[in-house]
Amino acid sequence: MHDLIIIGGGPAGLSAAIYASRARLDTILLEQNFVNGGQIVDTYEVDNYPGLPGISGMELAQKMQDHAEKLGVETVNATVEGLDLTGPVKKVLTDEGTFEARTVIIASGATHRKLGAEGEERLAGRGVSYCATCDGAFYRGKDVLVMGGGNVAIEDAIFLARGCSKVYVVHRRDELRAEKVLQEALFELPNVEMVWNSTLTSVNGDPKVESATVTRKTDGETRTIPVSGVFIAVGITPRSEFARNQIAMDEGGYIIADETGATSVPGVFAAGDVRDKQLRQVVTAVADGANAVTSAQRYLTENR
Ligand SMILES: Cc1cc2nc3c(=O)[nH]c(=O)nc-3n(C[C@H](O)[C@H](O)[C@H](O)COP(=O)(O)OP(=O)(O)OC[C@H]3O[C@@H](n4cnc5c(N)ncnc54)[C@H](O)[C@@H]3O)c2cc1C
Repeated sequence: MHDLIIIGGGPAGLSAAIYASRARLDTILLEQNFVNGGQIVDTYEVDNYPGLPGISGMELAQKMQDHAEKLGVETVNATVEGLDLTGPVKKVLTDEGTFEARTVIIASGATHRKLGAEGEERLAGRGVSYCATCDGAFYRGKDVLVMGGGNVAIEDAIFLARGCSKVYVVHRRDELRAEKVLQEALFELPNVEMVWNSTLTSVNGDPKVESATVTRKTDGETRTIPVSGVFIAVGITPRSEFARNQIAMDEGGYIIADETGATSVPGVFAAGDVRDKQLRQVVTAVADGANAVTSAQRYLTENR
């Protein structure tokens, strides 16, 4: 039995692993992917992590992984499928068997939300993408469409505009939610066209995307735009399914936990994007990981 099991090897989980290792806790980290790093692995550039301006997501993830490895963090490649938190020994059920510990930190992050447009599912991976930084290079010299108005959507549009001939940005409202600095950068680009007050209603083509149909909310008018790629950036969903009915969550499925990471179950803590919080970024995820380990240490001391 371990002192601590960390679920997820993204920034929150790796930060927790680093702090746990330095606290000499007997810890294992469970990660379903073959590489640690979480969402930043797919991020072209992380330009707001203090001290490392313009670093690529992959490089930042590698640096975090190297740091954790240097401190002897053990990662087990396993997908968590359920939890049994009824007794003082917490059981984590995975496709590689059951792991036991006295404390658990859930740092399983979040994933891209689907829009639900007609043709979206059928054409996923055939022109419909949820990660511009991963797939953008396939659309060099082509016309593409981005659906969304938040930071990720606008970052995606700016990134795509560097290589694509034209980028349509479709947004439900008449102003963007993204940070002003991103909006300014977007509006300066000559090959970006805004499609305001509209939503993507269908993605068309067979076997690959050939066009996208958008519907204007104000008058219901539809417009079919010839594009080769459709990038959907309409938010994220927490990866908390395995903890359902075990831990208190909000209506969106985010685990309810404050800065200490404490959840509704003593000895179980939440860190990073999976937690109900204001800002989901690398800098807040790593802070959560450190805080959750401090809370776990305190719990272990008080419940010997
Ligand atoms: C396109 C994009 C661009 C971004 N750009 C920036 C940026 O510039 N700056 C910034 O600060 N932030 C950025 N972010 C946000 C940032 O990546 C996240 O806030 C951060 O990665 C959250 O870290 P996390 O560890 O909480 O979760 P994640 O990064 O989501 O990591 C969670 C990990 O848990 C694993 N996991 C999930 N479920 C299970 C399971 N059942 N079993 C085992 N393992 C599991 C996942 O595989 C993943 O590795 C960006 C995100 C995206 C998608």
